[in-house]
Amino acid sequence: MKKIPLSTPTMCGAELKYIHEAFDTNWIAPLGPNVTGFENEICKYLKISNAAALSSGTAALHLALRILGIGEGDVVLCQSLTFAATCNPILYEKATPVFIDSEKDTWNMCPDALEKALKKYPKAKAVIPVHLYGTPAKMDEISELCKNFNVPIIEDAAESLGAAYKGKQTGTFGEMAVLSFNGNKIITTSGGGMLVSENEAYIKKALFLSTQARDAAPFYQHSELGFNYRLSNICAGIGRGQLTVLDDRVRQKKRIYEMYEAGFDGSFIKMNPVPNYVSANYWLSCITGVEPVNLYNHLMSMGIEARPLWKPMNLQPLYENYDFVFVQKKPVVNELFETGLCLPSDVKMTTEEQKSVIDIIKLFCS
Ligand SMILES: *Cc1c(COP(=O)(O)O)cnc(C)c1O
Repeated sequence: MKKIPLSTPTMCGAELKYIHEAFDTNWIAPLGPNVTGFENEICKYLKISNAAALSSGTAALHLALRILGIGEGDVVLCQSLTFAATCNPILYEKATPVFIDSEKDTWNMCPDALEKALKKYPKAKAVIPVHLYGTPAKMDEISELCKNFNVPIIEDAAESLGAAYKGKQTGTFGEMAVLSFNGNKIITTSGGGMLVSENEAYIKKALFLSTQARDAAPFYQHSELGFNYRLSNICAGIGRGQLTVLDDRVRQKKRIYEMYEAGFDGSFIKMNPVPNYVSANYWLSCITGVEPVNLYNHLMSMGIEARPLWKPMNLQPLYENYDFVFVQKKPVVNELFETGLCLPSDVKMTTEEQKSVIDIIKLFCS
């Protein structure tokens, strides 16, 4: 049988036009018209005012922390169930992460656990919720709490481009938000990210810091520590082409989710929940109710690429000494990790291939 991947880049052809333009005009260096164009097009898509295209989502998170002046000794409250890229930048800045449990309705940051954490750490410098697998977090509740405690939100929308919460795009709720265009995300620049914000000063600062923090002087003068975090004009060209098919990708990913949902209907296997007040981007379809490691090994042996859910940060060797705040008897993230698996969600997967994935899972679990 042909291998069935988890989620790989899917080009649409429009990318080449922008890349050719870059070659024809010799805009190969970082910056250039594709970078500006890509930023403007993302702003238009999200309905947000300012964006800085960067080399990765991780770089965008790092700059967001820098811009808020977060440093040694500062507490940052972060969703536990996520990819390590969400919280690694907290350690880059020698700040202290405190991890927050998830709720069962969206698998994202639990507002009750967040409230408990804000009471325990009222001087927290930022809250980082994640829209995991493309399902928006409970932003009304999270925003209300953060407003009451006067703590800024950095929204990790790396997995959720194209998803909306109550009609408003993810990436537009935080003081700043982070997008990723890594190869496995819903659209890609081969590697890249973006920092977006309504606050123009924040994005100006991000542009400054991401280009080595050069002072306005005729020579190379630096008063601040800078980074080389800008996106290249070639990669931005790929992103511009990809953005033209983002809505198609969301529709295709939704069809994949719905086919799994119908396939597992009536069994003990449950899909990752998507509340009816959100529109997810369905980046990855996930199930719970299985033995993830056994099923993972079985699927991989048949050329079907699955992946366990993100291992929660409170269970990571690197992060186990940091505080973890939860309100249930047993943390929700532990339970999800013990019973959940991400399934192939590649938009190039055929209906027949997906049917066979469903059959193989049902047979193995029966
Ligand atoms: C992919 C991802 C990131 C990081 O993005 P990169 O572009 O790979 O650096 C951050 N957070 C989450 C939740 C992600 O899935």
